[in-house]
Amino acid sequence: MALIKCSECGNEISDEAAICPQCGHDLYSNQKVNDDESKKGTYGLVGMILGLCSIIAWIIPLFGYPCTIVGIVFSAKGLESKNKNKAITGLVLCIIFLIFTLINSIVGAAISTEGYY
Ligand SMILES: [Zn+2]
Repeated sequence: MALIKCSECGNEISDEAAICPQCGHDLYSNQKVNDDESKKGTYGLVGMILGLCSIIAWIIPLFGYPCTIVGIVFSAKGLESKNKNKAITGLVLCIIFLIFTLINSIVGAAISTEGYY
């Protein structure tokens, strides 16, 4: 058992307490907000990584579609986090390379129906 400081009144209280005994501040909901925040930060980071992967993945539509679409979803979730810039980078990269993937698969389909393959 460790002591933490209540974010509301500053009193030292047990970290196992759900509610501050001094002021009644709900510590669990505060903890949950922090968890959500770090989760969103991770989404932003994953979005950027997927965005970077899609720079290569668009060449093969089979990889390009899941990579860019999942990247857009993760980046969008991470937009309100502290990794906002990473999320924006991921979002922009994923959208650009989703368009590349689309063009690539359309051109690929057009070529294959014309019998070049
Ligand atoms: Zn308190």
